[in-house]
Amino acid sequence: MADKDFPFLKFHRQLPREVPVPIRVLGYQEIHGDFANGDASDQAARCIDCGNPYCSWGCPLHNRIPDWLKLVREGRIIEAAELMYETNPLPEICGRICPQDRLCEGDCTLETGFDAVTIGAIERWTTDEALRRGWRPSVSATPTGKRVAVIGAGPAGLSVADRLARAGVACDVFDRYDEIGGLLTFGIPPFKLDKAVVRTRREVLEGMGVKFRLNTEVGRDIAFASLIDGYDAVFIGTGAYTAVDAGLPGQEQDGVYAALPFLVANAQRILGSAARTGEPNDRSRPLMAAAGRSEPSLAPAAPGLLPSVIGKRVVVLGGGDTAMDCVRTSIRMDAESVTCIYRRDEPNMPGSRREVKYSRDEGVQFLFNRQPLEIVGGPDGAQSVRVAQTRLVADTQGRARPEIVAGSEEEIPADVVILSFGFLASPPPWCAEFGIELHANGRIDNSGSGRLPMQTSNPKVFAGGDTVRGADLVVRAAFDGREAAKSILRLLALAEVRAPA
Ligand code: SF4
Repeated sequence: MADKDFPFLKFHRQLPREVPVPIRVLGYQEIHGDFANGDASDQAARCIDCGNPYCSWGCPLHNRIPDWLKLVREGRIIEAAELMYETNPLPEICGRICPQDRLCEGDCTLETGFDAVTIGAIERWTTDEALRRGWRPSVSATPTGKRVAVIGAGPAGLSVADRLARAGVACDVFDRYDEIGGLLTFGIPPFKLDKAVVRTRREVLEGMGVKFRLNTEVGRDIAFASLIDGYDAVFIGTGAYTAVDAGLPGQEQDGVYAALPFLVANAQRILGSAARTGEPNDRSRPLMAAAGRSEPSLAPAAPGLLPSVIGKRVVVLGGGDTAMDCVRTSIRMDAESVTCIYRRDEPNMPGSRREVKYSRDEGVQFLFNRQPLEIVGGPDGAQSVRVAQTRLVADTQGRARPEIVAGSEEEIPADVVILSFGFLASPPPWCAEFGIELHANGRIDNSGSGRLPMQTSNPKVFAGGDTVRGADLVVRAAFDGREAAKSILRLLALAEVRAPA
């Protein structure tokens, strides 16, 4: 068997260089640098073009992965980026934050025995490199004269705006925050997604003609009625920001925080610092540079603006990716110890295995099969979390259900407790007034029969992302945005055909 015929035997799976743990926990920079040989061609060459691209089916966007791996292998970076962008409005972002082990790479044919191709890292490297070389998506269509309002500048909103702008539709994107990205900016920590990446995406979109109307909450600063009247269609992508309330006794006391506000406050602190001073003050900066990482784009502010966890024992309740973001953030905020408590076992965690590994590497302790029962407090707030051990029993719906083991209670010391039990969709309060129906669980209904994909019960209004799905992956929000744009284009084309008659 010659290696030239099977490069996966010659080139082992290798992710870009990982910044050593003692350095990376000092700051918020992304933990991966460049590929060892400076580009992704060797790793792309590992693809055997198996003829059954399960990887493409594993990708929610059905990216044409083997085709662009071939282009990367041949050094045709701009063409590869074009092809990535053809199906993915946010390739440099998905390449960083998708849980690839559960998606494309989990379905790679090489995964059984030879380790999957590093699909996500190649997607990230290729798009970064193409943008660095000056590549920008082509906006081929001439202006159509049509206008669409997008509510929410998160991944779904950015994706729909991208596809529409490309087709010559003018897009105004409204968002209540002062920066685009939604959770990409304020929820996902910079060590997973450098905020410079989101800023570059903003420049790309603005270069395509997309207008961002930030610090503008629809329903408060501008009436939804004016959007319905003033635009040809409206897209709603307002995300899922409502924390699931587990009703845990003691959760209202000092020292207990919901995961998302904790992450958002830290992101705002970091962004505020960078914007205010323009002077990154991260302790890891010289060390990161020595380790081959580029200049940090953001830096943490002086401590004190957030609930401080310095020297404290932090316990995070929950096992999803947001919980992993909280534990890794707490490590970087100089907690004395950080423990993640989850009620099922490790194989049944909902989050990415990769994130669990990184958390463990960085010093997080995991307590599996523990059901939180109460947050026990003292005069200064939280003191411990009372938990009981669980065993998993088969569930009629297929997922193992945790059952409490009698007499197994214990107390886990905690000065700070962060609750990460999931998030619910945040539909705008004015939906009913404009005939936009919701499901009983509060999510916007965008799937009625006889409708276009992503179209709500108000034919002029489309919706996608977490406000329709509940808290879900960024790549699925990108899919929704892409598909909603197709439907809006169909709607507008119909209108154009009918109008002259
Ligand atoms: Fe994999 Fe995500 Fe890229 Fe799809 S978008 S190929 S799932 S990293």
